[in-house]
Amino acid sequence: MDAYRGIEMTVGNQLGMSDRTDIERVREQVDLVALISEYIPLKQSSREWVGLCPFHDDHKPSMRVVTHKDQDFYKCFSCGATGDCFKFVQNYLQKDFGEALRFLADRVGIELLAAPSEEGISSRSSMRRAMDWASKLYQDALSTTSEGENALSQLHNRGFTDDSITQFSIGVAPDSWTFLTDKLQGTPERIETGLDAGLLKKNEEKNRVYDAFRNRIMFPILDEAGSTIAFGARRLHEEDEPKYLNSPETALFHKSKTLYGYSQARSAIQKESKAIVVEGYTDVIACHQAGITNVVATLGTSLTPDHADKLSRICNEVYLVFDGDTAGQYAADRAIECFFLKNIDVLICVLPEGQDPADLVVDKASFTSCIERAVDALTYKFNRLESTLSQEHTTSGKSQKIDSFLDELVRLGVQHLSSSRKTFIYEQIAILLRIPMEDVQKELKSRRPASSRDKKQEKVSERVQLPKTLSRARQIAEREFLAILLFDPTESSACLRESELTITVDSFLDPIASKIAGYILPKLLAGTLFTMPELITDLDEESENVATTLYFVGQRICNTYESVVYALRMTMSAFLQSIEKQAIADEVKGIHEVKDSEEKTQAAQQAIESIRRQQSARNAS
Ligand SMILES: [Zn+2]
Repeated sequence: MDAYRGIEMTVGNQLGMSDRTDIERVREQVDLVALISEYIPLKQSSREWVGLCPFHDDHKPSMRVVTHKDQDFYKCFSCGATGDCFKFVQNYLQKDFGEALRFLADRVGIELLAAPSEEGISSRSSMRRAMDWASKLYQDALSTTSEGENALSQLHNRGFTDDSITQFSIGVAPDSWTFLTDKLQGTPERIETGLDAGLLKKNEEKNRVYDAFRNRIMFPILDEAGSTIAFGARRLHEEDEPKYLNSPETALFHKSKTLYGYSQARSAIQKESKAIVVEGYTDVIACHQAGITNVVATLGTSLTPDHADKLSRICNEVYLVFDGDTAGQYAADRAIECFFLKNIDVLICVLPEGQDPADLVVDKASFTSCIERAVDALTYKFNRLESTLSQEHTTSGKSQKIDSFLDELVRLGVQHLSSSRKTFIYEQIAILLRIPMEDVQKELKSRRPASSRDKKQEKVSERVQLPKTLSRARQIAEREFLAILLFDPTESSACLRESELTITVDSFLDPIASKIAGYILPKLLAGTLFTMPELITDLDEESENVATTLYFVGQRICNTYESVVYALRMTMSAFLQSIEKQAIADEVKGIHEVKDSEEKTQAAQQAIESIRRQQSARNAS
């Protein structure tokens, strides 16, 4: 079957009835904790699960995953990332909603009911399909073309087994300008997708489309979910340039965020809590073939903070393997920077000059011993400083080098490191400079960068500006009442329906609280209820963010009172009091606005009357 022509669901705001049913069916079957755990380790902490948030640079586990009473959602208390299983797949695996739905449906073995529609095809999902389609063709060409024969013999000569070739889906692009293009004739939209995905190129002058990869061994680069997002292509003939050609950056493929072999290595990295980062595709494949499976590679770039982020979430130790030449040492320096503030141990392994991991793993023991000799990144940095200092013969030259080294440490954020790492650094510097540790500490403190103060100011300005009529106390009262309803809709619904509720959606002054109330109150009063994942699907991002935070507030209040009913009564009465106070404040404000003194007295008397009436009405209810 031609997978490229697959069909996409209509999603977004035009959800049909059957789409809705599909969404519910899939959501019911997906185990959110199991899903997220595949990408980020989660630990159970009382009723919830906690882990490092993948959506910001998280150092303490800020993400909570709730599965209590079918609520099933995640929430990061640091960056606010919130969602259900679909949102997680969309945001973490960079899929659109339709792709996420299908991805999860496949995962739990549900066949979608919704009538397939050609509408709503997202460009990203068709690009993904185009890449998988091309990858399949390249793989087939390995056994059906003369270029394939050549490629196979080169791969075998490098020591790659047929199993490895299959495991890494290696293929070949035949020596033709139109190998892919020919198959797309007469379908302009597919040609367009091929161009977007970087499979095809266009000669604007001649208005001719042709294949981007020709006469090359093709190494598919996969995303975390295992679908092809790019290719690394190695020349078949030594006279062709360049030696390696990568797919261009596309909507699917960002070099600085992608690690080659990640989808194959992830579970081993997670299991051993250790990742080895090498420099080339073939190094990764050679290592996997030798049984060392926690190995990934960057794609012709040095390591980026995004890479470091990705790895620091699933393991505690990263081994960076570099060639022994100067370029390798420079790369090591840059890589250390990326990991400087991550709560992760980074070790540097510099290979003997002229050797690469692919050579070394032929003898697994020699590669392993090389890895065992790796040095801690900070030690490596100090060793490098020591060796540059030893080459410097003047005192001023030496102090200049030390000076810039200290500046660099401050720039990298030495003051934010854990105390044990800081102590290690202070000690090393003290030894190098032959001065007491306290002096080192003072010296580094005096170099503090100016940016920390700016950050504080940013935080203050980030605070939500409240409408003038809404006091902080009223906002808290509104939200705490909602918090109980969100935390336990079942109990709350029963309780609300028994009482004569004077609170309506109009009682909420806080616009977000009002939106949430507008969604949940009618449901609770009708006894139809709702779940947090439904709310996440239906409300806008800001409201869903507040709602999920309030869930935890509700949990805390209910725990304090040890009863949902009592907590609801307390927060409701606080809310009613706040409404009353506001009414009084409004009356008083009205009195202030009256200029004539006689009228003012009259207005005050009226106000007191009206407040009394309200109070007695409340006491009666
Ligand atoms: Zn976060």
